[in-house]
Amino acid sequence: MIHAYRGELLSVAQDPRDAPGAVRHEADGLLVIEDGVVIARGAYADLAKRYADIPVETLPGLVVPGFIDAHVHYPQTDRIASHGEQLLDWLDRHIFPAEKAFVDKAHADVVAAFFLDELLRNGTTSALVFPTVHEQSVDALFEAALERRMRIVSGKVLMDMGPEGLKDTVASGRAETEALIRRWRGRGRLGYAVTPRFALASSDTQLADAGALLAEHPDVLMHTHLAENVHECAAVAARFPEAADYLDAYDRFGLVTPRSVFAHGIHLSERACSRLHESGAGIAVCPSSNLFLGSGFFNFGQADKHKLRLGLGTDVGAGTSFSMLYTAGLAYQAALAREERLDPFRALWLATAGSAALLHIGDKVGALEVGQEADFAVLDPAATPLMARRTREADLAERLFALQILGDDRAVARTYVLGQCAWQRP
Ligand SMILES: [Zn+2]
Repeated sequence: MIHAYRGELLSVAQDPRDAPGAVRHEADGLLVIEDGVVIARGAYADLAKRYADIPVETLPGLVVPGFIDAHVHYPQTDRIASHGEQLLDWLDRHIFPAEKAFVDKAHADVVAAFFLDELLRNGTTSALVFPTVHEQSVDALFEAALERRMRIVSGKVLMDMGPEGLKDTVASGRAETEALIRRWRGRGRLGYAVTPRFALASSDTQLADAGALLAEHPDVLMHTHLAENVHECAAVAARFPEAADYLDAYDRFGLVTPRSVFAHGIHLSERACSRLHESGAGIAVCPSSNLFLGSGFFNFGQADKHKLRLGLGTDVGAGTSFSMLYTAGLAYQAALAREERLDPFRALWLATAGSAALLHIGDKVGALEVGQEADFAVLDPAATPLMARRTREADLAERLFALQILGDDRAVARTYVLGQCAWQRP
């Protein structure tokens, strides 16, 4: 079935720093969709005649590609806004106790459903997601994503050095990972990621096995954390005295590859940045989490100097919102803290096509180009009285920036998955 949407369309398919023409904007555009895929896009005046016979719905707001959250933990949904600690103590006090509850599939089902609905409410249609160490936590998430037809990548957490009730073994970690890959490969819009929690939570043997799993399955990603917090970095240096730096601790086990997604990268050496670039691995930048846990500010200047591949993540529950608009606004503020200016179009690219490329789904989603899946959000730059006043006479860049600084879930009027409305603001 063919149908079309008319409205203001905006996307940024490539990093506008490298490709100044990457910003694509149709003030009065037409998006034509067949079986969930974009088959035509352009100015309404140019396309209207050719598609005169198909049903057209007008969308109320600024249409952007569905947001892609490049790093988020669904089992931490209920521990968002937990007071008082930096990373390692926050994990022990707030997060590990909450994650133990995911041994119960029924609990995982309830949280997974709430989590995915919350993503849709925020205009997010794809994500790279941490579950827990429990195999059933992945099943719960994938089943709920399949129901909602969302593009979700995840994989059982490997942590044989985790706390009691939250650890696997090298053998069970491998067996469950292989079972999950077999069970879910090719289903819906799902993808798998080998997911060691972080260097401190796995033995050398398990890290080496994670590298082996990654090498054995060329269609999966690797997802973990890197150089988030100074105390964490010190503990990694003590545990791996022979490693050149934190990244090298992963590299020794075959975990630094083009399919590797590292969250954070706040405290990176020049050597590590060179190696990230050379390997093709990328970073999910998580500014709201970094501020909340007092971890620091991502160094966009250093990353750009080394041409690192970047995406944007909320990192809930250390992140303080599921909104990628709000997170993009904090990315601007984190960049400015290091005297870098993050352009609002580049921030939109990070939250959409940048994250898509990082997750190796850039051919499918992220830019609303012809041939891509029709996942998009309809943003309302006048969502609040203040936003309405601030954007009244604003040009496109100003409206987009106001959405990022003042906007959040309130500014998402509708979310579409494969061309169908999946959420609408009441
Ligand atoms: Zn995280």
